[in-house]
Amino acid sequence: MDYSLVHITLLTYIRSVSYTVQSDLCDVLQKIVRSLDRPEFNSNVDTLDAYIATINTKINPTGFRVAKHRAQVSGDVFYVFVNTVSDEITKVNTNYSVPEIDAIKRIIDDLIDQSDLSFSLGYVNSSQRIGQTLNKTSRESNVLLSRLVDDGWFDVTEEDRVTLSIRSICELKHYLIDKYGVFDGEDVSQQSGGKLFVCRQCKELVTQGEKCVDAKCPISFHYKCLDFYKRSNDVKCPNYDVCGYVWSDQHDGSEDETKNENENGIPSIPWTPPTRIGVANPLRI
Ligand SMILES: [Zn+2]
Ligand SMILES: [Zn+2]
Repeated sequence: MDYSLVHITLLTYIRSVSYTVQSDLCDVLQKIVRSLDRPEFNSNVDTLDAYIATINTKINPTGFRVAKHRAQVSGDVFYVFVNTVSDEITKVNTNYSVPEIDAIKRIIDDLIDQSDLSFSLGYVNSSQRIGQTLNKTSRESNVLLSRLVDDGWFDVTEEDRVTLSIRSICELKHYLIDKYGVFDGEDVSQQSGGKLFVCRQCKELVTQGEKCVDAKCPISFHYKCLDFYKRSNDVKCPNYDVCGYVWSDQHDGSEDETKNENENGIPSIPWTPPTRIGVANPLRI
């Protein structure tokens, strides 16, 4: 496919919104092609992906890419405009001054350091963090925080919790893993233990989902990924031999429910729900 005015217009749209859900982008593509080229054109995911592939071939040498990324809660596919040259937060945020980027880093530090695994920070605390870092008034801090939210770097839940957005997780994934590490079952208070979780099913970061109840077990899933895993697998934790956790209170019928011990002779304990990662009421994207 030749790079055309349709591609340029589509790319301009994606850049202007930073990220967009697949169904919306399909509609946008259809409108663009109908107005510029073929009035009868109907778009679908395949035609959209063909246009995106051509755009990526064109913009790759400039260090950018339109990436596909699944939203953690809804599971919907999003298209995100990302910088591929560097995962350094400094380079991707060219719209911000160096001190402002420092403030962003401190908010991310605070989000990830939460001992309750909420990966979130209260809006007021986030604004205060900006104020402390940049020596700004609370009004100025609020202005910058709302700009960061508008630019898609953070989301704000209905309960005023600031969380990492789909854009920041997609674009900063490697930066975050390099800086904070992935939890591998070691003591989280130790630097080496890692603070992030990677979904067992899709291998993407989990800042909204569930983890194994066993504090030392690193197995975690996004909600939809766990549903998928449970449909196609045993409900035992993939790390069951070590943690002994079962991911569901639903018996599959193959076990004798009157038995008080499992096949290893370990007494069965009442089922407890997995540990939540993220906020209680996340945005439904
Ligand atoms: Zn997943
Ligand atoms: Zn486990």
